Amino acid sequence: MNIFEITYWSALVVEMVIRAPINKERKKEKMVNQRISSQEKILLGLLLLAMFIVPLIYSVSAWLDFANYTLPAWAGWIGVVLTVLALIVFWRSHVDLKTNWSPSLEIREKHELITRGIYSYIRHPMYASQWLWVIAQPFLLQNWLAGWLDLFVFILFYILRVRAEEKLMIDTFGKQYRDYMKKVGGVFPKLF
Ligand code: SAH
Repeated sequence: MNIFEITYWSALVVEMVIRAPINKERKKEKMVNQRISSQEKILLGLLLLAMFIVPLIYSVSAWLDFANYTLPAWAGWIGVVLTVLALIVFWRSHVDLKTNWSPSLEIREKHELITRGIYSYIRHPMYASQWLWVIAQPFLLQNWLAGWLDLFVFILFYILRVRAEEKLMIDTFGKQYRDYMKKVGGVFPKLF
C-alpha cells in the first residue's frame, strides 16, 4: 500500500469513529417518518460497493491491477488535501446535526431542524464532504474502477437523495424549511 491508499483507509476509519457515537445514540430514538424506498436501499448498497468493497479488492488483491494508472506525486497530494477538507466538513456536520442524522430519510419524534453552525452556511454539508471525498478518490486510488466508481455512484445518489430529502424536510417543517432554502445554499454558500 502506498501513502495515498493509506490516507484513504485512515480517512475511512476516522469517518467511522466520528459517526459511531451518533449512530449509537440515534438508534434509541423513536421514528415518526421513514422513507426508505427500494431505490434508496439500492443506492446505499452501490455506495458501499464503490466506497468500500471495490477499493478493498484494489488494495488487498491484484485483481484490479489491469485498470491501474499512475499520477505524479503532486496529484496524490491534492487527494490528501481534499480528503482532509472532507473530514473537517464531515466532523463539523456531525457536531451540528447530532442525532438528527440518519443514513436514510428519517424523521424522529424530537426531530429538530438544524440551521446553526455549518448548517448556517450550507444545507448539505455532509453531502459537500462526500463530494470532496469522491473527487479525492481518483487521486488517492489510482485505478479506473476503485478510484472512479464512487464519483459516478455519488452523482446519481446526490441527484435522487437531495430531491427526496428536501421534500421530506418541507413536508415536516413547511415554511421554516422553505425560508431556510431561500437563505442558505445547498453545497455552496450563497455569497450574495
Ligand atoms: N443533507 C444533510 C443531512 C444528511 S443526513 C447534510 O448533507 O448534511 C440525512 C438526514 O438528515 C435525513 O433523514 C433528514 O431528515 C436529516 N436532515 C437533513 N437536513 C437537516 C436539517 N437541516 N436539520 C435536521 N435534520 C436534517
